[in-house]
Amino acid sequence: MIDFSGSEARITESTLVIGLVLPDVMGTYGDGGNALVLRQRARLRGIDAEVLPITLADPVPASCDIYTLGGAEDYAQRLATRHLTQYPGMQEAAAKGAPVLAICAAIQVLGHWYETSEGERVDGISLFDLTTTPQATRSIGEIEGVPLVDGLTQPLTGFENHRGGSALGPDAAPLMRVVRGTGNGAGSPVDGVVQGSVLGTYMHGPALARNPELADHLLSRATGRSLEPLDLPDVELLRRERLRK
Ligand code: GLN
Repeated sequence: MIDFSGSEARITESTLVIGLVLPDVMGTYGDGGNALVLRQRARLRGIDAEVLPITLADPVPASCDIYTLGGAEDYAQRLATRHLTQYPGMQEAAAKGAPVLAICAAIQVLGHWYETSEGERVDGISLFDLTTTPQATRSIGEIEGVPLVDGLTQPLTGFENHRGGSALGPDAAPLMRVVRGTGNGAGSPVDGVVQGSVLGTYMHGPALARNPELADHLLSRATGRSLEPLDLPDVELLRRERLRK
């Protein structure tokens, strides 16, 4: 787990607070890195930003400016679901327009319900109009797609590893059309979900390190301002390598 000790002490009135939700149980494949990418891209623009880890020992505050949640195995996912149901701070913030980024298992937790690989149905927190059931086979590998969301123009890339397939209801729109990999599965060639200020994807990576445009899309929503582009050759190199067939 990434050590953010002391970050709470540095939070002031003007700090952009990035809530890293349940990194102790949700955060496979370095998904906690999404919070670091948001912090770094904010700081490079002169915005004071801190990551606030919210663990199973903490109630979930409604005061963060943006929230990120990572993927997890079935049991950890269930602990997270219970905690978010008991402490609905993130749901309250999302209802007021705070952006939320949910990766893989977190999509499932944020839906109406998900069925585990053992066939048990678990109620989610209904931030997304979707349900999740196990697919016949596990989807593992690189995933790539074309964004379907206004303001995103660059191909999206990530790594997926999940058994669950998520079917979107009418209130949820997909994030991208999949050109490589599976994504949401459930018979549909799309990945991810966008509903109000809440965005989900099956892309690990971490997704925001691989997709800086997506990071800035969330940041600009969290700060309420448009952000100047950043010229970061190392990030571009990573993207070129990941998108190479
Ligand atoms: N346990 C979930 C599934 O297999 C999510 C896995 C993950 O987050 N990588 O569908």
